[in-house]
Amino acid sequence: MKVHGRCNLACRYCYLYEGPDRTWRGRPAAASPAVLDRTAGRIAEHAAAHGLRRVALVLHGGEPLLAGPGRLAALADGVRERVPAGCAVHTTVQTNATLLTDAGIATLARHGIGVGISLDGGLAAHNTLRTDHAGRPSWPAASRGARLLADHHPDAYAGILTVVDPRTDPLEMYESLLALRPPALDLLLPHGNWSSPPPGLPDLTDTATGPGSGRATPYGDWLCTVFDRWWLAPRRETRIRLFEECVALLLGLPAATESLGLDPLNAVVVETDGSIEQVDSLKSAYDGAATTGLDVFRHTFDEALRHPGVAARQAGAGALAPACRACPLLTVCGGGHYAHRYRADNGFGNPSVYCADLERLVRHVAARLADATAGDPP
Ligand code: SF4
Repeated sequence: MKVHGRCNLACRYCYLYEGPDRTWRGRPAAASPAVLDRTAGRIAEHAAAHGLRRVALVLHGGEPLLAGPGRLAALADGVRERVPAGCAVHTTVQTNATLLTDAGIATLARHGIGVGISLDGGLAAHNTLRTDHAGRPSWPAASRGARLLADHHPDAYAGILTVVDPRTDPLEMYESLLALRPPALDLLLPHGNWSSPPPGLPDLTDTATGPGSGRATPYGDWLCTVFDRWWLAPRRETRIRLFEECVALLLGLPAATESLGLDPLNAVVVETDGSIEQVDSLKSAYDGAATTGLDVFRHTFDEALRHPGVAARQAGAGALAPACRACPLLTVCGGGHYAHRYRADNGFGNPSVYCADLERLVRHVAARLADATAGDPP
């Protein structure tokens, strides 16, 4: 639920406001009470229709705290009250942490809302691109917010989301984040695709870019270094979803992530005007890529599931490029993140632009797992 569609920061790399998509310009800044009420009703309707035992409600933006903790609390309560008995609603807010206050976090916590924060690392030097609209650094306020969570509200602390920058020292980056004591870390690859490549990848016009191509793998190398630091630590210092999911998939267990595996995507976004859209990451591909033409006033979430763009992401291996279908890593990698497969001349039917980096990571994790289990009884 996009409770607020603007941001108090203007991070230089932001794919939402600096990328190709322009749909946000025509939408209200904040979701109205009518949109929030209707969305709560649609979530409850969907939970009842499918007998769901669990719903994940993510309050995001823009910067969701611009809507105020009270409005977020009211929405969370409204959804919880309306879903059928026995359906748990797991609510989190994803914030840039600059607007967190002691009283605000306490309000969120009282209403069962976990707080996830987005940072580029745990040091001021990692966060220089995260500035406000006047170019002032966000780090002083964001680090204060992170400390408030870690020191005074650990039970409300959901974790840190960080976009990988292979120019940083992976160990310094990881340990600086650990110092903020997150219970979980989400390490995300920056959004990019074959037509608009992410920073730092070698020349993608070279056709030898797939598995076994031998191309440089700056993102894969960075992730492997952090994986070893995390995997070989004497105790689990934090959870890293990307790594846990990779291990689970290698062991043949189900894992739900947008970045790996073949599980169908089970998320939609409600915009501030009530439009139902596909996930925001698609907006990094082209203007209007996430649009469905549906909205919570006229359509159910089941209708959104039948939208061709959403349906394409329920088709598992059948929707992947031939190279992915023939790939030995298919069931673990799953073609990578959907948005990273885009190419302007043929859409999403390609391997991930990170193909070689994903191969590097998956093979590395598989080797570590094989070492760890060598000699175990079958
Ligand atoms: S499944 Fe992953 S590693 Fe294999 S070809 Fe597709 S993107 Fe590349």
